Amino acid sequence: MGIDTERLRATLLEERDRVEKALANLREDHPGNEEGEEIATASENHLAETATATLGREIDYTLGDNAEQVISEIDAALQRIESGDYGVCASCGREIPRERLEANPWASLCIDCKRKAEG
Ligand SMILES: [Zn+2]
Repeated sequence: MGIDTERLRATLLEERDRVEKALANLREDHPGNEEGEEIATASENHLAETATATLGREIDYTLGDNAEQVISEIDAALQRIESGDYGVCASCGREIPRERLEANPWASLCIDCKRKAEG
């Protein structure tokens, strides 16, 4: 067993945290239509908001509607680590290559099956 699940678990938890924060930011960025009303009182929070807004914009297009799906995939991967099924393709049962897990720690399919699934 050549997969360092402890390290990948840490990576998954970090990524989950990041996606959740990004998701929260996305929601805060689109609170409705009260444009400009709170500018006078919001100056204190402004620096922090600018910083997170930049981060939010960066990942906006990669996450967007996918964020919740990514979180559920990360949760599923964490569960597979718990149950000892981690790193095995959910479709064909073969081992998922380590490079693929490094690049995409919540992958549940090997590349072949993923390609088939995507048509
Ligand atoms: Zn497979």
